[in-house]
Amino acid sequence: MEFDLIDAIRARVNIARDDVALGIGDDAALTDLAPGRQLVACTDTLVAGVHFPDGTAPEDVGWKSLAVNLSDLAAMGATPAWALLALTVPDADARFIESFAAGFAALARAHDVALIGGDTTQGPLSITVTALGTVPAGEALTRAGARVGDAVFVTGTLGDAAGALRVSLPPHAGKGAGDGWEPLLGRLNRPEPRVAAGLALRGIANACIDVSDGLLADLGHTCVASGVRAEVDVDALPLSSSLTATFDTATCSELALAGGDDYELCFTVADAREAEMQAALARQGCEATRIGRIVAGSGVCVLDARGDEVAAPRSGWEHFSQ
Ligand code: ADP
Ligand code: MG
Repeated sequence: MEFDLIDAIRARVNIARDDVALGIGDDAALTDLAPGRQLVACTDTLVAGVHFPDGTAPEDVGWKSLAVNLSDLAAMGATPAWALLALTVPDADARFIESFAAGFAALARAHDVALIGGDTTQGPLSITVTALGTVPAGEALTRAGARVGDAVFVTGTLGDAAGALRVSLPPHAGKGAGDGWEPLLGRLNRPEPRVAAGLALRGIANACIDVSDGLLADLGHTCVASGVRAEVDVDALPLSSSLTATFDTATCSELALAGGDDYELCFTVADAREAEMQAALARQGCEATRIGRIVAGSGVCVLDARGDEVAAPRSGWEHFSQ
């Protein structure tokens, strides 16, 4: 079965790049790396029922499997270039594969990413994508550069994808279309990796991470890597109108702080460079909201309008935790 599936995927994800010297079909792929650039590599797995609800449309699974990886490249300030796809499927279901490949191809085409190889095996549905990109040597954004005095920003809005998952539970479960949360479902199923924003932030942001496990968890990773503490102003969190129309204020804050799957960028910038940063993002059609500041110490705390610390929701999605 393996060869039919590979051909079906290859036919649908046929994005050509001049820098692919040898693509799908040999034991490994060969690509050209321009002088003065570094390779940026990341990989992420989606397991059915864990990273997407069972019954998610195959097109959405294809899109999301690449999107979560391009989001990691975006957080590094990298330009995406190539991808590998390790696919485990329960059977050789042509309709699933064709739809999956169509969703994957739609995002790959939008970012000019060539599929250069992969692996195909039989088993419970699981998708591992490896994304490869490039960055001018020494210019990648990392988690480690946040400095005391930096302001903390986040692109877009937070909590929408987690809100989409929440609406499938009581008291919302069973309500139908027209209840205003279709945009939330779009954020869950078709996240838009912030590639252009990541490129614009190169040379401006001191630290950057993508928000995949929830803001508190991911900003916490930045704080550990940078040896600093972050204060987040709960009232400053950017919320979509779909989210605020669906949930009360406390739930919106909880979803924005601890929900996952946002795929926005959270980054820190020296105070004096905020205007420059906003202008660079605006040129890419992107906006960022100032949500807090970096201070001395460790950890992340959440402050109310008076500057008093509020209890933070249990942060983030952690595998292997109880
Ligand atoms: P091998 O036994 O050498 O690993 P495979 O039969 O697994 O070879 O793969 C043959 C070719 O097809 C390789 O170039 C591999 O990268 C590619 N390939 C396999 N599965 C996929 C997939 N799901 N998506 C893209 N390319 C794939
Ligand atoms: Mg193989």
